[in-house]
Amino acid sequence: MNTEAREIWFLTGSQGLYGEDTLHQVAEQSRRIAEALDGALPFSVVWKPVLTDAGAIRRICLEANAADACVGVIAWMHTFSPAKMWIAGLDALRTPLLHLHTQANMALPWGSIDMDFMNLNQAAHGDREFGHIQSRLGVPRKTVAGHVEDPSVAARIGAWARAAAGRAEVGSLKLARFGDNMRDVAVTEGDKVEAQLRFGVSVNTYGVNDLVAAVDAAADTEVDALVQEYEDAYKMAPELRAGGERHDSLRYAARIELGLRGFLEAGGFGAFTTNFEDLGGLRQLPGLAVQRLMADGYGFGGEGDWKTSVLLRTLKVMSAGLPGGTSFMEDYTYHLVPGQELILGAHMLEVCPTIAAGTPSCEIHPLSIGGREDPVRLVFDAQPGPAVVVGLADMGERFRLVANEIDVVTPAEPLPNLPVARAVWKPRPDMRTSAEAWLTAGAPHHTVLSAAVGTEELTDFADMLGVELLVIDADTTTRQFTKEIRWNQAYYRLAQGF
Ligand code: MN
Repeated sequence: MNTEAREIWFLTGSQGLYGEDTLHQVAEQSRRIAEALDGALPFSVVWKPVLTDAGAIRRICLEANAADACVGVIAWMHTFSPAKMWIAGLDALRTPLLHLHTQANMALPWGSIDMDFMNLNQAAHGDREFGHIQSRLGVPRKTVAGHVEDPSVAARIGAWARAAAGRAEVGSLKLARFGDNMRDVAVTEGDKVEAQLRFGVSVNTYGVNDLVAAVDAAADTEVDALVQEYEDAYKMAPELRAGGERHDSLRYAARIELGLRGFLEAGGFGAFTTNFEDLGGLRQLPGLAVQRLMADGYGFGGEGDWKTSVLLRTLKVMSAGLPGGTSFMEDYTYHLVPGQELILGAHMLEVCPTIAAGTPSCEIHPLSIGGREDPVRLVFDAQPGPAVVVGLADMGERFRLVANEIDVVTPAEPLPNLPVARAVWKPRPDMRTSAEAWLTAGAPHHTVLSAAVGTEELTDFADMLGVELLVIDADTTTRQFTKEIRWNQAYYRLAQGF
């Protein structure tokens, strides 16, 4: 995942009134703030010369729009920057904006403060002028207040920067679907044209036999090398090892990975879907291959679920470099003992090993649906800890994101007969409220589970795209959540205009 190429631009507002000496100090101090952020954020922060007139402001905003590397813009009014100067620029800006409300010095110099200091350090009212014009223009942005040396300030800006990287990714993402959606399923469908308008992602279908051709064409020497890689990376079931009676199945699984990876690389795809109802000439449902491609950052959705695949790829990019994994997930079955309620999440095969608690075990078992040869898969329990599950639904006239904060737990008992990877979690605030809220929102059964990014990144991402996000967390009540859905229905219809 190419995060090195991404930049955040740092803009400083001022005006000509103060004279060269003061503007020189403004430049020097804002450069230090930008440097501090550069060290604290996941992407490089590029300082831009202090802005003092409307023409320069408009030009830098247009440059930010045009620069592929620039995923977001931070603006800080060091001094007082009369905000009518910002109207044309903010009106033109299409890049996500963060308004940083800060100050060069942390402590007020009580003993030495004079009018020179007062003239130089005016963000307390300069940023209020800037907040006013942003609100007057209806500019979507995140506002963060505090000194940049406060780790919580850097963390909030970091979440926004990650969200901005996700937005940039989804804006140019290409997704390959092998086959269509699972027959008769509603929630995995969606408006692909609207998705491209709203998110930028291009979703296109390929015949599964296009993939079969790539799988069959994989060279035996490459299969040999990949099988060796499997043996080194996983606990290999004896029957799959070289000389084992089902070793050929492992070799075919490797062939699927080579074909699939080659197809995706050749087409520049960052995400894909499969459908067990439409496997063409494939001898196994892709399991191991999908798991390993997810671990390398590809988006995936089962049963043709391109929306969840888009979301997975986006969250993979947002979480690059952070501890904790991110996976395709499905609410599968429940532990409903009162007071101990848990959700067991899994899928037929396709859970990403980045969320594994230990070394995955590579196994082969029958699959009761699909009607093909037994597929090879990685089996593991998920790492315990806080996480979030997120779903994306098409509500007809718009998209809706729903997130639930959860705590992944160690299964209460071993699951020796369950031949798939799984995550067991306790949803917040509790099972009943979580499930009632999720169902009331009409949110999907396929989700993305992430232990790397959370509610703040998702909120910033949704705000950048103007997409609804409903959050179920420790504070959620069914009554309030139901009202929020009603209010949102009105708001998002109005916000879309006519
Ligand atoms: Mn499914």
